[in-house]
Amino acid sequence: MGASYPTKILLAFRSGGICAFPGCAKPLVYTAIVGDDTAVGEAAHIAGEKPAAARYDATMTDAQRDHVDNLIYMCEGDHTVIDKVPADWPTANLLALKATHEEKASAAIAEAFSDVAFPELQHAVAWVSSQPPATVSGPNFDLLPPEEKIKKNDLSNGSRHTIAAGLSSRTTVADFVAAETQLDPDFPDKLKSGFLAEYFRLRHQGHKGNELFELMCAFSQRGLKSQGDRTAGLAVLIYLFEICDVFEK
Ligand SMILES: [Zn+2]
Repeated sequence: MGASYPTKILLAFRSGGICAFPGCAKPLVYTAIVGDDTAVGEAAHIAGEKPAAARYDATMTDAQRDHVDNLIYMCEGDHTVIDKVPADWPTANLLALKATHEEKASAAIAEAFSDVAFPELQHAVAWVSSQPPATVSGPNFDLLPPEEKIKKNDLSNGSRHTIAAGLSSRTTVADFVAAETQLDPDFPDKLKSGFLAEYFRLRHQGHKGNELFELMCAFSQRGLKSQGDRTAGLAVLIYLFEICDVFEK
């Protein structure tokens, strides 16, 4: 079967786009000359996918085997190593490696928020100028504090941490949106409509809760190359999460 495409996007996002193998740190993104960049890392199974595979666990279901929690993000060479020499890479070690790697990626994102400024925000929302204004209206969550929204959206501690960190750049994003609105009064609506279109597309595919939030995080960084621009994309998403109904009950 293999992991689904959204699961791979989720894994790449949680891994900061970097190989999890100790000492490798290879960035696993192909920087496209035309169009969006492509994640080229592999979603390696921790407990094997098939009976003959490394670390296979007969007690697991296929859904559990292909779940993001049983996958670790690696380059092709290191994926081969962990599967060919499973004695060196037992399940417990890989689970610990995955946890450390994903925590590190999350901490790096949190730290990067303090560097978000207008130039990065400009790159992150360059797509807005070609966006039609929002036509979808939904329930208004303007008055809902972030903590309530987090509860309503069933978000994990990792996502809560990202949101809390992202809110530190909210004043910068708010100032930026105000400045852009001076130039184009439809800017806030266009910005919102771009995120809402993706939000409804993902929801239609059946994604919800934390997974939906993280896929939106990955979406907010699409096509952005530098770490600064990618963090700015995330800052915009978290700003919208706080002020409007991009997320809901
Ligand atoms: Zn590697």
